[in-house]
Amino acid sequence: MPILSKTLTSFLYKSSPALLGAASGPSTTIGQQAVRHLDLLEYQAKGLLQDHAVTVQKFRVAANKSEAENIPKEFPCDEYVIKAQVLAGGRGKGHFDNGFKGGVHLTKDPKKVPDLVTSMIGNRLITKQTPKDGIPVSKVMVAEAIDITRETYFCIVMDREHNGPVIVCSPDGGMDIEEVAEKTPDRIKKIPVGISTGCTPAVANEVADFLGFKGELKSQCAEQVQRLYDMFVKVDCLQLEVNPLAETPQGKIYTADAKLGFDDNAAFRQKAIFDMEDTTESDPREVEAASYNLNYVQMDGNIGCLVNGAGLAMATMDIIKLYGGEPANFLDVGGSVQEHQVKEAFRIISEDSKVKAILVNVFGGIVNCATIANGVVNACRSIDLKLPLVVRLEGTNVDEAKKILADSGLPIQSALNLDDAAQKACAALK
Ligand code: GDP
Ligand code: MG
Repeated sequence: MPILSKTLTSFLYKSSPALLGAASGPSTTIGQQAVRHLDLLEYQAKGLLQDHAVTVQKFRVAANKSEAENIPKEFPCDEYVIKAQVLAGGRGKGHFDNGFKGGVHLTKDPKKVPDLVTSMIGNRLITKQTPKDGIPVSKVMVAEAIDITRETYFCIVMDREHNGPVIVCSPDGGMDIEEVAEKTPDRIKKIPVGISTGCTPAVANEVADFLGFKGELKSQCAEQVQRLYDMFVKVDCLQLEVNPLAETPQGKIYTADAKLGFDDNAAFRQKAIFDMEDTTESDPREVEAASYNLNYVQMDGNIGCLVNGAGLAMATMDIIKLYGGEPANFLDVGGSVQEHQVKEAFRIISEDSKVKAILVNVFGGIVNCATIANGVVNACRSIDLKLPLVVRLEGTNVDEAKKILADSGLPIQSALNLDDAAQKACAALK
């Protein structure tokens, strides 16, 4: 049986922290749902952390050369750290498509800051967490560099298995954390936190101890851990990953790199945070679909798929592959879909010039098949659809739905079942 492409699964389950599998595919610890998460860029995350009294370095952001030139003038530092802003980790060890090495650079020379920034902007950064052709960089963070004597790892995730937040931490943080997880798992500790008791001093001290902080550093670490936890809960995070949580020779603990992911269900009460969403990295079709409450993921094939539910989407794509086709997208209309959304979904799919056939596969459990059928018929007429269209409907009100399709007089191929639908869609390509 063909297995879903890694890109799709990583899209669906994107944003799991490094230790829970972002680099290696879907997490098995976090519940696997097809949801859209909001992820923030590092500079946005650090702004939020600062507001919650977490220790972070001073920073600025540049989007072009002149902004980069002004930074050292307004912001004198002994040493700068220059960091590409993309929604992926592993930047330090990454490289750009123009050959430039490293998405994180240190320099003591203020004159080098603009050159480092412009070597990154406009180019694609490739790391082990990005797609293989990388992610374009449009913003670069210039921060006050710190000296680091030790790098630790700290993360909080909302974890289904534990029905609540779990702290994951390791004294061996830094760029090789995945290797630590693989080779020395005893150097990683997971501490479930009761959502009603919160991160007590006992929990915070347990973390600080395990991370190897002693004396004053231990109480400083425990305090940072509690502030990080408080923010996690307050802003409805699903994940908050700090790597490294760094110790300086001056005896200060910094959140030197942070990755935040949010629960989309909280968008209504975290409006200011959700308004920060940066969609420059996203596929414009995904952004447009999201504005109609449709879950769309662009893929490389030529059969456009309109389905309801992530499970059915995966089954549909697997079976298309089984019959030799390639899905062009994943478009999940969900359970409460209305006719106008079906129309927008069709328009978005058919605007992709790679799409040569469309397959609708809907199981009407909550959704009424007649709604889908009416939406499909209206969409075909209003956008004057010329592509071959195969429709498989099953479930609630299916007989009426089939009648609507048949009576429409449109060249819609009805399919008996999933097999038949996939075979017809693949045959329509020829
Ligand atoms: P990532 O590779 O995407 O996780 O990016 P990070 O921000 O974690 O940077 C990668 C590595 O660069 C860190 O693990 C540190 O070793 C180093 N680094 C980052 N910021 C600083 C800094 O301010 N000072 C020093 N000395 N090293 C830093
Ligand atoms: Mg990091």
